[in-house]
Amino acid sequence: MSKNELKSVGILGGGQLAMFLCISAQKFNIKVSVFSEQENFSARKFCNNFFIGNFRDIDKIKEFYKSVDIVTVETENIPKKTLLTIENEGKLRPSSETIIISQNRIKEKKFINSLDGIKTTKFKTVNSYSDLTESMRIFGEEFILKSCEFGYDGKNQFKINKYNIDNFKDFGLKNFIAEKIVLFEKEISVIVARDVFKNIQFFPPVKNIHENGILRTSEFPANIKKHTEKKALKQAQKISEKINLIGLLAIEMFVLKEDDIIINELAPRPHNSGHWTLDCCNYNQFDNLILAITNRKTKEPEILYKGKMQNILGDEITHFNKNKPQITFYDYFKKEIKTKRKMAHFTIKEKFKT
Ligand code: ADP
Ligand code: MG
Repeated sequence: MSKNELKSVGILGGGQLAMFLCISAQKFNIKVSVFSEQENFSARKFCNNFFIGNFRDIDKIKEFYKSVDIVTVETENIPKKTLLTIENEGKLRPSSETIIISQNRIKEKKFINSLDGIKTTKFKTVNSYSDLTESMRIFGEEFILKSCEFGYDGKNQFKINKYNIDNFKDFGLKNFIAEKIVLFEKEISVIVARDVFKNIQFFPPVKNIHENGILRTSEFPANIKKHTEKKALKQAQKISEKINLIGLLAIEMFVLKEDDIIINELAPRPHNSGHWTLDCCNYNQFDNLILAITNRKTKEPEILYKGKMQNILGDEITHFNKNKPQITFYDYFKKEIKTKRKMAHFTIKEKFKT
């Protein structure tokens, strides 16, 4: 692939992440085409062109990737065949390998643990009820069961203990993972952008608060110790370099009492916990993804403000006061309100004390 600056981007998926990518692309005069599986999608009003179809419809996917210089994803849940077809044309960033690792929790954990000095929580593959009872023997009274694939926002996750384990006898336990519960002090995430010139930029750790497995708030600064931050960035760099990242990678981490770090999961795309960068950085996470995949140099994000981002979920949107003076409100233009669905977010930014 030549290093000429590319002029158009295709995005697989048309949700709010794609919407923010469209807005960034406009700044750099880059055209965006979106491939959405839904008729109504957040990015619809923001893209230059769109295709509506099934991600498995290879003919339609061909039409889509032929219309753009490079393709990226706003979700890791894209069929492998589709990813490989686009990659064979030299048009996929990040690589299929990166995306495929993060599609499957076991692949992802094996990859992370293969890196020197980087680790995840202990886990066990679960494909049967006896694997589940064995997990209880290994992990103790309570542990977490998750589907290996297609889980997001805490979906397909269960806390298992002696009171409910029997309910999983006829559950169809195929392709699940049991995880030891991490007694963390804090959840943080780091976002890395890396370009074709191997420049690497970090969006520093933010503190994340989840409610029922869904991100509620992200806050910068994360207020962790300097050496913990250093460790987090070092691990983020190592992971990104190992996969030869071109694009964006979000890394969710648990910080333990002793300031040790355990990696929770990877997302090879913009991340909800990076939305604060829209308001608080000169170059936000979306800008840097667009730059990285179009053969441009990523830009070191200057952090202009402290900030706290909060998600607006489900029907909270119907009674939310969007005009509060101190907030910046972002609507995702979703037609259908569903329980716990991410409908919008807002950010409160604050000047650094001088
Ligand atoms: P998702 O793909 O839905 O984001 P995660 O694995 O990140 O799935 O889980 C969602 C949230 O559930 C995490 O951010 C964390 O708060 C909690 N969680 C997940 N796994 C564990 C674990 N092993 N120990 C403690 N908390 C966990
Ligand atoms: Mg997560």
